[in-house]
Amino acid sequence: MRINERFIQELQDKIDIEQVISSHISLKRRGKNLVGLCPFHNEKTPSFTVYPESRSFYCFGCGAGGDVISFVRRMDNLDYVEAVKAVAQMAGMSMPEDGYDDTLSKQRMRLLEANREAARFYHSCLMDPKNKDALDYFLKRGLSINTIRRFGLGYAPNDWRELINHLKSKGFTEHELVLANLARRSDKNGRANYYDNFRNRVMFPIIDLRGNVIAFGGRVMDDSKPKYINTSDTLVYKKSNGVFAMNLAKNNNENKFILVEGYMDVIALHQAGFTNAIACLGTAFTNEQANLLSRYAEEIIICYDNDEAGKTATARALGVLGKTGLKLRVVRMAGGKDADEIIRKHGKERFADLLKEASNKTEYKLLEERNKYNLNTDDGKLRFLMAATQVLATCGSIEQDIYATRLSNELGVSVESIKAQLKTASVRQRRMDEAKKRTETAEMLLKSNEDKNNPERAKNLGAAKAEETLIASFLRNPDFYNKLKEKISPDDFVTAFNRRIFECLIKGLDSGLEPDLSMFSADFTPDEMDSVTRISLIATNLSNTLQECEDCIKVLRNNAAASKVTDAGSLSDEEFLKLFK
Ligand SMILES: [Zn+2]
Repeated sequence: MRINERFIQELQDKIDIEQVISSHISLKRRGKNLVGLCPFHNEKTPSFTVYPESRSFYCFGCGAGGDVISFVRRMDNLDYVEAVKAVAQMAGMSMPEDGYDDTLSKQRMRLLEANREAARFYHSCLMDPKNKDALDYFLKRGLSINTIRRFGLGYAPNDWRELINHLKSKGFTEHELVLANLARRSDKNGRANYYDNFRNRVMFPIIDLRGNVIAFGGRVMDDSKPKYINTSDTLVYKKSNGVFAMNLAKNNNENKFILVEGYMDVIALHQAGFTNAIACLGTAFTNEQANLLSRYAEEIIICYDNDEAGKTATARALGVLGKTGLKLRVVRMAGGKDADEIIRKHGKERFADLLKEASNKTEYKLLEERNKYNLNTDDGKLRFLMAATQVLATCGSIEQDIYATRLSNELGVSVESIKAQLKTASVRQRRMDEAKKRTETAEMLLKSNEDKNNPERAKNLGAAKAEETLIASFLRNPDFYNKLKEKISPDDFVTAFNRRIFECLIKGLDSGLEPDLSMFSADFTPDEMDSVTRISLIATNLSNTLQECEDCIKVLRNNAAASKVTDAGSLSDEEFLKLFK
C-alpha cells in the first residue's frame, strides 16, 4: 500500500518548494532559479540550486537532489510517509484516508516510545533511595535536583534485566528493545538471550529538537572502563548528527552556542545560567553537526578541555566549522581543565569573563603558534614569524593589515618586512588553494561517469547515457513517450537502476500523472533521488526532439544486439534465429 499518487501531485501543486527550502537556508534569485549554500555539505560558494519550475532542487557540489518531499526527508531525517505528512501539514492539507505503508514510521514511533519509557524508568531509579550512590554522584558534582529533573538524568540499575522486565510489562518486545539499542542479544546454544545494554551507569538522555528521547549516554561512576557507553545508530538516531542539549539551547536568543566537550560540562553551564551550551556527540566533530549548528546560530564559542586532546579537537572543530561561515571564537581555559571545573572552583563570573576574552579564530591560531617558540631568541622570533605569516595567509587583507601591525610591535620587526613575507605566503597559499580546487574538479568529472546508485553505469556509459536522455526527455515532453511507447520497453534498458526509473516513469505517465520528480519519491530513497534528479536535469542540455529519443532507442537496440552477439555461443538455436530475424 502506498500514498495515493493524486494526493502527492495535489500536494506538490499546493506547496511552494522555494518557501519550504528558504525556511531552512537563505536563497538568492538567479534567473528563473534560486541558489544558496547547500545544507547537506559544507561550502562557501553556493552550488545548491532550487528550480521552482520543475519543483526540484539539486546541489552541484555534493549531488543531493530531489523534490520537496525528499528535501524534507533528508533535512529532518524522516521516512517517506512522515515527510509527506509534514509537507501536507505545511500545505494545510489532511492525509488521504485510503491506505499507505507506514510500517517503518510505526516502528520508529515504537522505538521513540520505548526510549521515553526507558528515560522515565532510569529517572525513577535515580530518585529511588536504594540507588543513593547514583544520586550522590550528581549532587557531589554540584547539580541541583531541579537541574537533574530538567535534563531528565537517570540511573541504569546494576542488573542484567531490570529495564527489559520493566519495558516488557509496558508491552514492548525484546526485539524492539534491541532495535532501540536499549537491550542486546546474545545467542548461546541456539537460544537467544537478552540483557540490558546500560548497567550501573548514570544516564544522560539525548533529546531531539521535537522533544523525542532518541538516545542515551551512560557513564560509570568510578574509573572503570569503558567510561561511556552510548546508543549506537538506530532507526531514530544517527550519532554523526547528534548534539546534546540542542533542544534546550536552540531557544536562547543570543544567536550563539557555547560548544563544550561533555555532558557534565553542558549541564553545569546550563545550571550556571549559560543556557546556550551544547556538546557534539561522537568522537569527531562532523559536517552534519556543523550544518545543524549553523541553522540556529551565527557564532560558536569553542570551549574544549585544556589538554592535548582538547587542542586537537579544537583544531578539528575550527576546520569543520570554518567552512560554514559561522563566526568562531575559542576560549582559553584558565583556572581549570574544563568548564565544569572552572565554574565549581571560581564561580560563573569567572567563566563569563573567559567567554568575553575568547579569541577569534586567527588570534587563537597565532597564540597556539606563539606558545611553541621561545620569543626571547632571534631564532624563536624568526620561526614564530614564519608560522604566523602562514596562519595569516588564509585571512582577508584587512585582517592581515591589523595583525601585521600587532606582530611588528610585538617582535620589533618592521611592518614592511612582515607584509613582504605575508605577500609571499599568500601567493603560495592561493596557488595551493587553486591546485586543490583543480583536483576536486577533476575528481568530480571522473565521478560523473560513476553513479553510486547505478554501479553498471561506468561500464555501459553509452547505453546509460541513452537511457538517461530518454528518461529526461520523457519527463520534460510526455507526448514523446506517447508517440514512441510502442518502440521502447523497460526490457530494452541495460542498467537495472535506470530501468527502475523508467518503469516508475511510464507507470505514472500511463496513469495520466503530470510528470515531475514527485512520481519517484515514494519508490526511491533520498540517496537514489540524487541520481534521479541529476538525470532529470540533463533535459536542459538536450535538443528535446523526437529524433533525439529515437536515436537513443537505436543505441539501446544496437547495444542489446551487440551484447547478444558476443555471447552468441551461449544462445540456444532458437534464440539465435530469433536474434537474426
Ligand atoms: Zn551539497
